[in-house]
Amino acid sequence: MSSKVAIVTGGNKGIGLATVRGLCQRFEGIVYLTSRDVARGEKAVSDLQKEGLNPKYHQLDISDNKSVEVFRDYIKETYGGIDVLVNNAAIHYPRDSTVPISVKAEQTLFVNYFSTLSTCEILFPILRDGARVVNVSSSAGRLNHILNQELRQKFEDPTLTIPELSNLMRDYVDAAKLGTHAADWGNSSYAVSKVGLNALTKVQQRLLNDRDIKVNAVHPGFVDTDMSLHKGTLSVEEGARGPLYLALDAPDSVRGQYLWYDTTIVSWY
Ligand code: NDP
Repeated sequence: MSSKVAIVTGGNKGIGLATVRGLCQRFEGIVYLTSRDVARGEKAVSDLQKEGLNPKYHQLDISDNKSVEVFRDYIKETYGGIDVLVNNAAIHYPRDSTVPISVKAEQTLFVNYFSTLSTCEILFPILRDGARVVNVSSSAGRLNHILNQELRQKFEDPTLTIPELSNLMRDYVDAAKLGTHAADWGNSSYAVSKVGLNALTKVQQRLLNDRDIKVNAVHPGFVDTDMSLHKGTLSVEEGARGPLYLALDAPDSVRGQYLWYDTTIVSWY
């Protein structure tokens, strides 16, 4: 039987790197640290090797379909499939960023929602039965960040499809470009992207329910990383606790859920 395979996106630093470290210590199989930048990824692998750990490396830019396809083909040919996929890679403009909201909205949604979605669409066909998918979300992904009640109802509609969800995400970007977004969507592109990711998690679980595949989202906590400008109060190891729990330890009954960093299941609302 071929080896089990775990993959972390954006694994070269922060919570992603700590998740790779934890998987190397506990996952019974091969662990892939992936990164969009080869030099940064190889440096991270070499640092983990100095700790006595042995991750494998592959380039993976979630925003570049060709990169994801090359990776998928390599994994399929070499191992046959994927057992754990941690969708960790994301971007966040600092609160005081002077980048116009139109650009922030487009770029943030492009990476955090659309690129995570396209990565899943390319990699899901090679998920093995029993696989676990972890979508690293945020407390910002709570549905109450969407201010318009009709919109909130659309997100939580149990029959929501991925094309409908993607249209909602496009509606937000369009509204941000017109400057009409604030009353309905609030002021954070990052929050909208993570609400979208939480909604996506539920739709993905519904679509994979007939196979033994678990898809869950997790808020990793406020973590000391570049993204939080090192203001986070949790260490990266504490931030990786939730992703690792979902990847390795959660009961099979945990499906389509939203977890807190302490591994409790929380309401999305
Ligand atoms: P970091 O900014 O430290 O790391 C983000 C990682 O994502 C980096 O490896 C980065 O690569 C990678 N990345 C960004 N874009 C792409 C891309 N297109 N393709 C591949 N990799 C990419 O962030 P954190 O470790 O803090 O965040 C990890 C996750 O946790 C994110 O999903 C974030 O939203 C979430 N989160 C973090 C919180 C915190 O307090 N830190 C709070 C709540 C949620 P590169 O080095 O090349 O830029």
